[in-house]
Amino acid sequence: MPARRAPSKKPSLKACSDCGTLNPRDAQVCSNCGSSRLTEDWEGMVVIISPSNSRVGAHVGLLKPIKRAIRIAGRIVV
Ligand SMILES: [Zn+2]
Repeated sequence: MPARRAPSKKPSLKACSDCGTLNPRDAQVCSNCGSSRLTEDWEGMVVIISPSNSRVGAHVGLLKPIKRAIRIAGRIVV
């Protein structure tokens, strides 16, 4: 009997090493800054729906709703 594949702990997303934005796994460049430095080595996710009402959004200067990784390759980016 074949072993069942454990469900992935993370969504199939890649984080931008430059700005932290999470992009679809098949993306070649970051949808936010255009960087090609995308990595699957990320942890945590913050979804900012209303940047103007969010301390994090204000902190990173966001103007639109966005999904970001919290930690990339061991480095906290938010
Ligand atoms: Zn980026």
